[in-house]
Amino acid sequence: MQKSEALFTRAQKTIPGGVNSPVRAFKAVGGTPRFITKADGAYMWDADGKQYIDYIQSWGPMVLGHNNAKIREAVIEASYNGLSFGAPTEAEVIMAELVSEIVPSMEMVRMVNSGTEATMSAIRLARGYTGRDKIVKFEGCYHGHADSLLVKAGSGALTLGVPSSPGVPANVAEHTLTVEYNNIESVKEVFEAHGDDIACIIVEPVAGNMNCIPPVEGFLEGLRAVCDQYGSVLIFDEVMTGFRVSRGGAQERYNVKPDLTCLGKVIGGGMPVGCFGGRRDIITHIAPTGPIYQAGTLSGNPVAMAAGLAALTQIKEPGLYDSIFENTQALVDGFQSLANKHNISLTTNIAGSMFGIFFTEVEKVTNYKQAINCNTEQFNKFYHGMLEQGVYLAPASYEAGFVSKAHNADVIEKTLAAADKVFSTL
Ligand code: PMP
Repeated sequence: MQKSEALFTRAQKTIPGGVNSPVRAFKAVGGTPRFITKADGAYMWDADGKQYIDYIQSWGPMVLGHNNAKIREAVIEASYNGLSFGAPTEAEVIMAELVSEIVPSMEMVRMVNSGTEATMSAIRLARGYTGRDKIVKFEGCYHGHADSLLVKAGSGALTLGVPSSPGVPANVAEHTLTVEYNNIESVKEVFEAHGDDIACIIVEPVAGNMNCIPPVEGFLEGLRAVCDQYGSVLIFDEVMTGFRVSRGGAQERYNVKPDLTCLGKVIGGGMPVGCFGGRRDIITHIAPTGPIYQAGTLSGNPVAMAAGLAALTQIKEPGLYDSIFENTQALVDGFQSLANKHNISLTTNIAGSMFGIFFTEVEKVTNYKQAINCNTEQFNKFYHGMLEQGVYLAPASYEAGFVSKAHNADVIEKTLAAADKVFSTL
């Protein structure tokens, strides 16, 4: 770990906390973040040459595994023609057509550069379209770091928003109403009180930022019905779930159609890309066809589009998702039976290729409160034990895990052998 330690010490002198995105700093689990030098398939290597099986997969984008040859070649090829034009290209047209084909509710698509930009823009669009200011989000859901989305609930489920970060003005946060995930009654109550002022509901249709919590039956359908009743826009933030919990995202898996969808991660194949889109009659309100402003110098960047097109073309392969889902199920079942064998209280959640493990006595975790009340001390020990054994999980108990095409039976078996050893030490 010498090289990672030296780099971390050096990094902290010129980069806040030594990292460019906070969770990478290992604050939740303690210890030194591993500085990564390369990744391939299911594996990553750190600066000291240690190999890991990676269950973060760059926080989701790598459905096909790291360093996919076709994506890499597409990026190299595109780069020969110039890195950015600030003018339209055919690749953007093909990308919009492809996204629309795979996610049919996205009749029109606008490309951006990150998930944060996608959600921020979709919210502005919903507000501009409805002429209303308030938005509804769920406690424990993360939608990037735009001001109005950095809000969590106060003590009660229906509390008016208070900023959860200094720097977010209170009079911005007050327009964000935060309710309980998987609790449709809390949504109905907030709409009874504020319905005519609510522009939209934004939701992670499978929550992936409070560990992994799939929607309970009827929850997403309930959101659709409430939005229809009050004329509010339903936004699915599928930045994590898009092309992951099913080829067509959570909306395909659970058969609920949102008005707007935000995508990110997978559509860039690892490059910084996001997009938002949806109903034609809503999205045409953005500039230049409408008055709601949204723009980006690097949006639709030709190299990023080439990477994304190479990724999306491959995810259309028949049977791809069946094998990824089977391997994810085998992994999760394996964790559960090993925990039982070692008398450890553990429960798991799964949605396609996303999974969560919870150190808790609760039988099934379905909400934020249960997720945050898990045994973090035990998780942290498990985390470091697995890292030592060469398995790289997300460095916090509130994060989902991701399985890729490259996580074959052999990789799963190696992971479970490591877990068997680590569980025996807890
Ligand atoms: N929405 C969701 C559901 C996310 O998980 C994330 C990031 N993990 C974002 C939005 C923000 O995306 P980005 O980090 O690309 O800005």
